[in-house]
Formats: sequence, C-alpha cells, structure tokens
Amino acid sequence: MHSTSLTIDAARFAVQERKTTALALLEAHYERIQKEDGQIGAFLTLCKDRALEQADRIDRMAAEGKPLPPLGGVPVGIKDVMVTRGVRTTAGSKILDRYIPPYDCTAVARMEAAGAVVLGKMNCDEFAMGSSNENSAFHPVRNPRDLNRVPGGSSGGSAAAVAADMAVVTLGSDTGGSIRQPASFCGVVGLMPTYGRVSRYGLIAFASSLDHIGPLTKTVKDAAIVLRTIAGRDPMDSTSADVPVPDYVGELDKPVRGLKLGVAREYFGEGLDDEVRHAVESAIDKFKSLGCEIVPVSLPHTPYAIPTYYLIATAEASSNLARYDGVRYSYRAPGVKTLSEMYRRSRDEGFGAEVKRRIMLGTYALSAGYYDAYYLKAQKVRTLLTRDFDEAFCKVDAIVTPTSPTAAFRLGEKSNDPLAMYLADIYTVTADLAGIPGISIPCGQTKEKLPIGLQVLGKHFDESTILRVAHAYEQAA
Ligand code: GLN
Repeated sequence: MHSTSLTIDAARFAVQERKTTALALLEAHYERIQKEDGQIGAFLTLCKDRALEQADRIDRMAAEGKPLPPLGGVPVGIKDVMVTRGVRTTAGSKILDRYIPPYDCTAVARMEAAGAVVLGKMNCDEFAMGSSNENSAFHPVRNPRDLNRVPGGSSGGSAAAVAADMAVVTLGSDTGGSIRQPASFCGVVGLMPTYGRVSRYGLIAFASSLDHIGPLTKTVKDAAIVLRTIAGRDPMDSTSADVPVPDYVGELDKPVRGLKLGVAREYFGEGLDDEVRHAVESAIDKFKSLGCEIVPVSLPHTPYAIPTYYLIATAEASSNLARYDGVRYSYRAPGVKTLSEMYRRSRDEGFGAEVKRRIMLGTYALSAGYYDAYYLKAQKVRTLLTRDFDEAFCKVDAIVTPTSPTAAFRLGEKSNDPLAMYLADIYTVTADLAGIPGISIPCGQTKEKLPIGLQVLGKHFDESTILRVAHAYEQAA
C-alpha cells in the first residue's frame, strides 16, 4: 500500500511498529500535495513547522515503545473555518486574509492531543456559504475525479484532499450539507454529528444554531475514530452536550439484521437524477439482502426546507458577520476618513458577492415589520420539520436517502444562478434544521464515472446506528 493511501489504523500501526515514521508519512503527504494540489487547489495554507513538531513528538513516543494515541502520526487537514493558533485562518475570505488566531479550535486541539499531525488548512466557500467551493475568495477547488467539475461545498478542499490522498482525514463543517454533499461529490465518507455532539469553540460562525464540525474520511471506521476523538462536552461551548460518547468503533460490527430503515417518498421526487435514483435504490436492495426491513416513512414538510434554511441561515449569518468591521482582526480598507466609511469600505472590499447577498437577505428577514412574517415563521416551520423526523423515528432506526439530487456538476454551471445552487441542498438541509446526525457514503458512480452518495440519517445522539448501517453497506458493496 502507498504511504499516502492509508487509513487511520494502517498509518498509526505503521508508525507504532516502526515500519515508517510520522515524519516520513508527513513528508510523503507534502510531496503528494506538491505534485497534485497545483491543479486541485484544496489547501490554502500549509503549517510545516507545527506539523514537524507534532510528528517528532509522535516519533519519540514510538521510539520509546509507548502506545500511540488513536490518531498517532496521522496526517490531517483542517477546513479553514476552524481557528489554529499561530496559523493563518481565513474562512475562505479576503476579510480574514491575514488573520492569525491566538488559540486553537477545540476539535483541532483534540485531534492533535490524539496524535494527529496537522498538514494545513483547507480551502472552502467564503464563510462556508456555498455548495461548490466556487465562492472561495482565493481560488476554486477542482474535483479530483474530474478536474472540470466542482468538488461540492462548502468543505470542498476537505473532501478533495481526502479523495486525492493528500490527507488521511480532514475536518469539515456542515450548516446545510457542507460535509455530506462534498463527500458525495468526491467519493469519500462525510459525517455530520448531532448538533451539540462536537464543540463549536473556535469554529468561525456562519449560522450558530446550524453549524456542526465533522470528519471527511476514506472509510466509515475512520469517521468513527475521529468522531470519538472530537466528541463530548466542552466547557468553552455551552451548546456542547453533556451526553456520554459511545465506543463508536466497538459498535461498528454489530449486525444490522432486523434494523428498520425508513425510505421517504419526499426524497425521491422531482429533480432527482435517474442515475442517482438507481444507485440509491440498489443500495436499498442491498440493505434488504443484509436483513434490514425497509419501511416507507413520510416527511411531509420537506418541500419547505429550502426556504426555511435560507431564512434562518442568512438571518444568523447577518448577525454573526457584523463583527467584521475593520476594527479588530479583519481587513481594514486603507485611507478611510470616518468611522462609517471604514465600516462601509472594509466590508465592501473584504466580503465577496455571495456573502453580501446572504447578509442582505438575513438583514431583511430580521428587520422590523418582516421579522414575524419571515424569521419567526421559518422557526415554526423548523419545528414542524423536526417533528416529521421525530415521528418517522418512532417507526424506524435510520432513514436512507440520496445525499444530493445529482453527481458533481461542472465548474461555472450554477455559479450565475444562486437559486439553482440553493435548491440542490434539498436532501441535506433538513438534518441540520432538525439537529439530527447524517452520514454520506459512496454508493456507485454514474456512467461518466462520477461518485454518487448515499445518505443515512439517524436519531439525535445516535451516530452509532448510522455508522453501523453505513459500515455494513461499505463492507457489503
Ligand atoms: N450549501 C449550503 C449553503 O450555501 C450549506 C453550506 C454549509 O453547510 N456550510 O448555505
């Protein structure tokens, strides 16, 4: 096996047994990045010094014969919306072009404490707003499976790097699908945990009630290992839940026979590409042959999910992004004469078009006179969408759906039509709104050899079941 196509266990084992070193693994990945990333564009910043220090720490442990922690020596990438002490963190935006954070995101700190070696920071849509990575202020990311296509977004760099073997694992963030959809476009595994399962401390906020951190990996088992590492209560994030973190890996191999899997009609309607439909339907047949019971369920409020999401997410974004005003850590326009000119020009020059569109939409939805009609209404519909899932989960253990209505589209194909871009999030935004966990795993490919993603949704805090279902499919397929 190549030193850049390893899983977590294979990498850690090789370092532990002194078959290789963390340093050699690190160098192999940097060489691969050097060779491949010129055309893919997944990385925004490399942090070699930090990586060398960490690799050295792991190699010394291995040399002393100490047991390595679960991610010992594993090269990882971090989406550039998670702050890293001393390492530039841009959120894909010009407004944070030169921001060097003074602290580490909890999820990143936990990855490093578990032995991971951070290679660098991954490209993404500006402030994680987008579905194609074309909204990055720096450069787009290309899909390693077809360089003329998008990798998905907003965690496009995170997905592309894993798909192209430039990192064993990456962390992404998901507010409306940004882990699962790029995972499906690039043919990797992407896990969005339950809201509150993973601390958001140090995650640059897009929409705080919807933001989640989670892993993109080559296998379901790797996703289980990373979730176990980053999950759990963090006093620095009051919304992180004090719920015990199960041994996800230990539960992976429990049989799936007898599990009830829901299939919702609303996820197989208009707009679903035929090849995607076929792939997901044959996955459902596969589950039947594994002894799962397929149960029809209904999620009747699904048609309202996109408007609900794009009201709540933009409302929260307009408030969260008010802090970028040129005063503290963000870009400040040069030569300004008054305070209001500084605010205006710094924001005008610092933010890209999509971010401005979101701020305007959100400000409008929250403004006096419109608040009840838009924001409050959206919150009520959010409750109805959550109840749809609550009712469905009285009957089933998990729900299977396509991750995205189509496979990866071409660069530029939707960039002039924001609405078409928003509509493609139909199967992913619902889980964010309901706060439930979801995973996307590869399930075949189109005639043009583009990956297709299968999504498995679960009950609150029941990542174990969706990981187990996904693992069973992965092993069987
Ligand atoms: N595509 C969605 C959006 O543009 C989701 C983004 C995300 O999950 N961060 O808002």
